[in-house]
Amino acid sequence: MSITVVGAGPAGLTYALRLAELAPHLELLVLEEHGSVGWPPHCAGLVSLATLNREYPRVWRRAVLNTVRGAVIRSRGGSEVLIDAKRGVAAVLDRPRFDQALAEEALRRGVELRLRARVTGVDCSRGVLRLREGRRASFSLLVLATGALASLNEQVGVERPSALLPAINAEYELQEPLEREFVHLYLDSRLAPGFFAWLIPLDEYRARVGLAAPSALRARLRLLEKLDPGGVGLLNSRRVRVYGGYVVTGGPISKPYTSRVLVIGDAAGQAKPTTGGGISILSIAARLAAAATAATEGEWHLAGPRYHEGFKRILGREMRTMLLARKVLSSLNDAQVDALLNALSEAGVVERLSSTSHMDFQRRAILGALRAMWREALANRLLAPALLMGLVRALLG
Ligand SMILES: Cc1cc2nc3c(=O)[nH]c(=O)nc-3n(C[C@H](O)[C@H](O)[C@H](O)COP(=O)(O)OP(=O)(O)OC[C@H]3O[C@@H](n4cnc5c(N)ncnc54)[C@H](O)[C@@H]3O)c2cc1C
Repeated sequence: MSITVVGAGPAGLTYALRLAELAPHLELLVLEEHGSVGWPPHCAGLVSLATLNREYPRVWRRAVLNTVRGAVIRSRGGSEVLIDAKRGVAAVLDRPRFDQALAEEALRRGVELRLRARVTGVDCSRGVLRLREGRRASFSLLVLATGALASLNEQVGVERPSALLPAINAEYELQEPLEREFVHLYLDSRLAPGFFAWLIPLDEYRARVGLAAPSALRARLRLLEKLDPGGVGLLNSRRVRVYGGYVVTGGPISKPYTSRVLVIGDAAGQAKPTTGGGISILSIAARLAAAATAATEGEWHLAGPRYHEGFKRILGREMRTMLLARKVLSSLNDAQVDALLNALSEAGVVERLSSTSHMDFQRRAILGALRAMWREALANRLLAPALLMGLVRALLG
């Protein structure tokens, strides 16, 4: 009985690794279209230490570039909020290195990895995959972990993730040193309408800068360099490389399985709708999918429902709340975002949440912020109608 995983990103590799740990007797093959794991990169690589220590204790230190303790959030109107956990809360990873370290662990556990193996077609009834150059591979259970574009979902009768946003990342060598313990987030519709732009320090003299927006990514990146909202001297810095991808902000798909197929990671919409961060969510999903596979002992049609039920139980409410927050935030204009940051500051929310909120399980922080600032928000003539309208629109659609 063979299990075939398509995609050697973190979702496919985490699943393979977990399953190899649980059921070493199962034959496990991972197919990856590229010639090396982790390339080309697309990710900003910011992942909570909670996730890394819980899910990847043997792996993440091989790929860490920096650790951060908080974020500075700025609006176009100049409002600023500092979230400082006063201890390391997230690591900045070298994502290709992280994926490679995961692959090394999987290989060590006996997983077979085949590179330059692009899957172009799936015949579920016969359990056959078509690969480039006319090659074929057979499977008993298929796991699709093909990333945000989810190129094979439709072929197996599974919906694609929604609300994908094109994104661009660039790495800079800076002239002046920067404070390496804080990331910077910019809420400005000229840079990232409906989303945000970011600056993530890799060390004192290097930063990863990016944004997600529906169009004109390079022009917006140039504007970000010019505006230089964090005052780190982006315009005079050397841009060393640029890469891109799609962030997934529409929440999980409704049914990430069929009788012989499981879908995990970005391909299943398993990323935080607030930020597009996927590693924390997919690490839990991959663990659940592997446990469901191992528990069904070849009764593959049972694996999907078990996996999905587990996901909904652990993350269902979290994902729904984050999706609601994303929809409301995306509906605000620059002036309203400015008012929102002010209301959060005035209500004393930031200090309280800085030390207690969780980067991945955000429901408590979102509800806590709403509870603390509803009076300020309702008293604000700019913010109140916008928040209420955003909420109604989000609930309806
Ligand atoms: C700009 C940007 C910044 C981001 N920043 C963060 C961040 O800071 N923190 C965070 O947690 N997340 C971040 N994310 C999201 C994160 O990158 C994803 O959630 C994560 O990579 C998803 O992993 P995955 O394995 O599902 O997909 P991927 O990482 O996309 O891997 C999919 C793999 O499948 C392979 N593949 C696809 N189709 C086929 C096929 N037909 N045959 C064979 N192989 C195939 C691909 O080559 C690839 O290797 C960011 C994303 C973007 C775009």
